[in-house]
Amino acid sequence: MIDLKSMTQEEMTSFFQELGQPKFRAKQVFLWLHRGAASFSEMSNIPKNLQQQLAQTCRLTAPEIERKQESKMDGTIKYLWRLWDGNCIESVLMRYRHGNTLCVSCQVGCNMGCVFCASTLGGKVRDLAPSEILDQVIFAQKDSGAQISNIVMMGIGEPLDNFENVLRFLELVNDPDGLNIGMRHISLSTCGLVNKIDKLADSALQLTLSVSLHAPDDETRSRLMPVNRAVGVERLMESCRSYFARTGRRISYEYAMIDGVNDSDWQADLLAGLLKGQPAHVNLIPLNHVEESPLKPSHRVRQFQQRLESQGVTATVRRKLGSDIDASCGQLRRKQMKESTSHPGKDEVP
Ligand code: SAH
Repeated sequence: MIDLKSMTQEEMTSFFQELGQPKFRAKQVFLWLHRGAASFSEMSNIPKNLQQQLAQTCRLTAPEIERKQESKMDGTIKYLWRLWDGNCIESVLMRYRHGNTLCVSCQVGCNMGCVFCASTLGGKVRDLAPSEILDQVIFAQKDSGAQISNIVMMGIGEPLDNFENVLRFLELVNDPDGLNIGMRHISLSTCGLVNKIDKLADSALQLTLSVSLHAPDDETRSRLMPVNRAVGVERLMESCRSYFARTGRRISYEYAMIDGVNDSDWQADLLAGLLKGQPAHVNLIPLNHVEESPLKPSHRVRQFQQRLESQGVTATVRRKLGSDIDASCGQLRRKQMKESTSHPGKDEVP
């Protein structure tokens, strides 16, 4: 089945030309798809016979809401979507003063193996198509009625491990005839796949790159994040410095504070040393406790922050939103996987 929604307008134009259709069809269908049409039959300005032809040859992705949880504290909404093949993914809608932000997933599960993260517990099932990443924005907006102005790629999955589809998604969501979300309103978070960071720098997109660092020393980082075992912190920093040099975009470093693991003074000092001389921003995240993990949140977040700041490194503590609704990465899917017995083979708990 053809995935029309993953096509750019240009590709759609040649697709319709090959069908012997006029050029303007592409834009008509593009507008319908990006506004959340759930079937070809609602596309009222498309001839009936073409609607039928498309319905027979194209898959129109439209995820179902499997679960929806709304925080009573701050209005955060967490969506668990069921995809066409039965797999589930999550998105979180957060309301900030500067606009509504949607955190999207880019894979079903994740292969990166970070020990503190709920998304990776069952490994990666598959990559998401560009249309399936886009659908999260289209349908969260449609369901909530909230205009989404910012996107963070910090949901389930490793964006740079699904590089081509993620880049295609960025192009689609950026289209002025589509959702028209500017690159400067998009953040992409990576566990640090250096070759792909280098490749991303080639595209010189104006998005914000977030690097999940979580430890400044190789011993701790390799323990927390298997990705560090092949390529250590020094090589990662090299890619980060070069990313800034080539794009002019300041990198944001994520650092989940874990009790007795990465929260000591010497690690703050080492981190400050690493970032010296590069325009950087450190985002300290209070660890979200994952049931399966022995790791505990740190009580030294403020001290750690002050120690960084006293050495000239900008550091902020991430405000927790939606903590009453399992709103962090992979937690809702995990819960669903544990409870669900009705979809054997899909989303099973290992
Ligand atoms: N794969 C990407 C993006 C997904 S995770 C990455 O690794 O960056 C988004 C952020 O949440 C990452 O910084 C990740 O390390 C962090 N994270 C995952 N589990 C967490 C937890 N239990 N507590 C706090 N932060 C967590």
